Amino acid sequence: MTDALVIGGGPAGLMAAEALLQAGRAVTLVEAKPSIGRKFLMAGKSGLNLTKMQAFGPFLASYGASLHPTMRACLKSFGPDEVKAWTEGMGQTTFAGSTGRLFPDAMKASPLLRAWLARLDGLGLERHTRWRWVDWERNIHHFDTPEGPRVLTPRVTVFALGGASWARLGSDGQWAERFAANGITVAPFQPSNVGVVVEWSEHMTRHFGAPLKGIALHAGDTLSRGEAVISKRGLEGGGVYPLAPALREGAALTLDLLPDLGLEAVANRLAKPKGKASLSNHLRRVLKLSPAAQAIAREFVHPWPDDPSVLAQAVKAVPIRHSGLRPMDEAISTAGGVSFDALDDTLMLKDRPGTFCVGEMLDWDAPTGGYLLTACFATGLWAGRHAAEYDRP
Ligand SMILES: Cc1cc2nc3c(=O)[nH]c(=O)nc-3n(C[C@H](O)[C@H](O)[C@H](O)COP(=O)(O)OP(=O)(O)OC[C@H]3O[C@@H](n4cnc5c(N)ncnc54)[C@H](O)[C@@H]3O)c2cc1C
Repeated sequence: MTDALVIGGGPAGLMAAEALLQAGRAVTLVEAKPSIGRKFLMAGKSGLNLTKMQAFGPFLASYGASLHPTMRACLKSFGPDEVKAWTEGMGQTTFAGSTGRLFPDAMKASPLLRAWLARLDGLGLERHTRWRWVDWERNIHHFDTPEGPRVLTPRVTVFALGGASWARLGSDGQWAERFAANGITVAPFQPSNVGVVVEWSEHMTRHFGAPLKGIALHAGDTLSRGEAVISKRGLEGGGVYPLAPALREGAALTLDLLPDLGLEAVANRLAKPKGKASLSNHLRRVLKLSPAAQAIAREFVHPWPDDPSVLAQAVKAVPIRHSGLRPMDEAISTAGGVSFDALDDTLMLKDRPGTFCVGEMLDWDAPTGGYLLTACFATGLWAGRHAAEYDRP
């Protein structure tokens, strides 16, 4: 009989394995892909943002008002300071950017993952890759493996199967169907932290790839400050992602190209004599609007107003006509997953004693900025520690 089984080798599963091993349990970790932590490595491609160093109140608020109390407890026990200390304890020095976002000095994920796996191996982790969990009955788990079907019957199990985006990295969300078939409530997956689709006119082609810096985007009650990138398919980037929940609800999207200037200040600048300058030079000179920023305003503001106060209103609230969010598989994360109603406050399935769920496969949502990984670490550790106390041999 297997003692403790962790299914899924992402950051949440590895953290659960660490907690179980440190508590003296014998742990087997199985992963469907040929290697561990593929999405974690991908997350490090553009800088592995591990957490956000900020006061706990605002940190927690970023997860939204409807955050489940169990998630709150997990994050309280393993929040930004703990993520930093844990990373550094692995020999990976870190730095915080100007907004508090914490990264390893190496920026990428591979040195941290290597150190982590070495630590887990040192604690006696047994791991199998290319083992795909396919189904279960009670505590009997079935796997497809290169050697054919295999069955494991653990004392305690932690599922860490991820969400439903970037399927090629492993998190394909297919587990949800088997969970639902077994009577476990799973909220439908939805794309989160994803760009919006915009059908650009031909005029925009030369601005593909151009960043819009220091902008603000509004959708419903959400205001997001940051950067967006004009891409062939629409608008992407850190400034756009936090709007996904409001956009999913059908809120209109508006763009403020000059969030640090009030309406009147913009109108006053626009009213300055233009002289012989073209309008675009005038906009560049008095408002410092880049060609891409001017182009996106012209794309959506028709007719182009002459009156400085009307034009000021236009550049401070460009109405972005879009056709919804990009497809789920492109999303950095997904909302939806195992409902907290199905779990007790240790993240154990109420109807499956000894079976825990962690990470992005749970039904929570958060913006980018390190909040995703922190929640995966925190839930992995929380469930791992509780699982370690369950049915000890
Ligand atoms: C491009 C990109 C950049 C990102 N950047 C950041 C960032 O900078 N900061 C941040 O906080 N977050 C970031 N994220 C999000 C972060 O990577 C995820 O939230 C995190 O990896 C989720 O961890 P997890 O362990 O829950 O799931 P995953 O990392 O998805 O791991 C789940 C594992 O389960 C395995 N699995 C699935 N089904 C089965 C099965 N049936 N049998 C066996 N194994 C299975 C999968 O192969 C996978 O290895 C980024 C994501 C992407 C795509």
